Amino acid sequence: MREEDRQIFRKNQELTLEITDMGKDGEGIGKVDGYTLFVKDALVGDVIRARILKMKKRYGYARLMEIITPSAWRVDPACPVARQCGGCQLQHCSYERQLEWKEKKVADCITRIGGIPVGESGIPMEPILRMENPYHYRNKGQFPVGYDKDGKLVTGFYAGHSHQIIPCTDCAIQNPCCRPILETIIQYMKEFGVTAYREEQQTGLVRHVLIRVGVRTGQIMVCLVVNGRGLPHQDELISRLLDCTIPDTDGQESKITSICLNRNQENTNVILGKEITVLYGTRYIEDMIGEVRFQISPLSFYQVNAEQTIKLYETAMEYADLKGGETVWDLYCGIGTISLFLAKKAGHVCGVEIVPEAVEDARNNAAINGIKNVEFFTGAAEKVVPEQYEKSRGALRADVVVLDPPRKGCDERLLETVIQMNPDRIVYVSCDPATLARDLKVLCGSGYELKRVRACDMFGWSGHVETVCLLHRRDS
Ligand code: SAH
Repeated sequence: MREEDRQIFRKNQELTLEITDMGKDGEGIGKVDGYTLFVKDALVGDVIRARILKMKKRYGYARLMEIITPSAWRVDPACPVARQCGGCQLQHCSYERQLEWKEKKVADCITRIGGIPVGESGIPMEPILRMENPYHYRNKGQFPVGYDKDGKLVTGFYAGHSHQIIPCTDCAIQNPCCRPILETIIQYMKEFGVTAYREEQQTGLVRHVLIRVGVRTGQIMVCLVVNGRGLPHQDELISRLLDCTIPDTDGQESKITSICLNRNQENTNVILGKEITVLYGTRYIEDMIGEVRFQISPLSFYQVNAEQTIKLYETAMEYADLKGGETVWDLYCGIGTISLFLAKKAGHVCGVEIVPEAVEDARNNAAINGIKNVEFFTGAAEKVVPEQYEKSRGALRADVVVLDPPRKGCDERLLETVIQMNPDRIVYVSCDPATLARDLKVLCGSGYELKRVRACDMFGWSGHVETVCLLHRRDS
């Protein structure tokens, strides 16, 4: 299409189009006269009426106004606020189709960005690890507390790309214990005139409520993030929380075993501050993955989906193919979950993690499980590993390296050192296929070969997908 012709489109214009593809966050993509439009909440196969919101040279964004012909993939969202809420992107898409799309997204990323053919025309994707029941799977929620436009105290979730709170205590993917806990806190705040934080003025007290559940143990942690050092009528809140009726999860009795305050007085989007005060119970909750018991502090990362975590780790274990005696480095190890899971089959495991509290948890977790063949290093993996390598004068070796970075993927310096360490196998666990693909390209350009790829659905109804990859050194 010539540049002049495109002028036929303008902002706020409504048009009819068919959705033919999906973008990386699950948004619908369609074309009108060769011009690409991204439409949130629209699904492949939908014929829709959409209104143009924003136009760029090569593409634009439009709002779904009406579904003229629904896609065969469509289902009724389980959640009444699915469209407003920024949490889920795919509540209108059947679970089967989500899985298909996620698998394809991983294959496409590795093929296009990584330059390594995966999927139909290359290394086959192993079948995606699916949830038995894709609802109420999350073991952690971070709920903002604030005011609606009428000044009413509310809690729920942020709308997409905004800090407007969509009131919701009955989330379709959260653990059912969240609802009574949130309602108890809101009721207490109303009765005792406890204020919620107002971001614009930086006034008010309660910013977020963090709830975490050990699904296997039934232990629950409630952590209030406050813009201050304490809470008024704190004892009242504690006794009400301990009295509130919490539904069972999978026939398992759940109970609040930890109530904490987290102080965050910064003007920031970061949810948690650094300072924790325990108001009741322990500073951590416990959970189990397989036979290993874990203590988890509020500031530590822990996988959000218990049912899938075990499948993810079993896949990592299978790919690591440990015979006993191997040296394993688990980089980005969190509270040592993968390290301890692999330790029983390895000779020695070294974990590296940047959050000091998580490393403390990891060491503690090794101790409570009587696992002795592990050690943990605190610091950025891209700093610690090169330092250790230099200190050893290039003698540092690993048989297996596990990489499980956050969304931004691995630092280039870390990848360089991992390549120098020359492991036989690299197991890459990723929560972002695009950065995974970028890093695979580096590894495969330096003597490694991608052998196996498997996606795992940790985050049903959202656009996110987890992936495990196995790489072999070419000459091994
Ligand atoms: N493997 C763990 C944690 C994975 S999440 C598990 O399965 O539970 C990624 C972890 O990387 C988080 O714990 C985060 O705190 C940590 N992290 C983030 N940046 C890091 C860095 N540069 N170096 C080391 N760890 C980092």
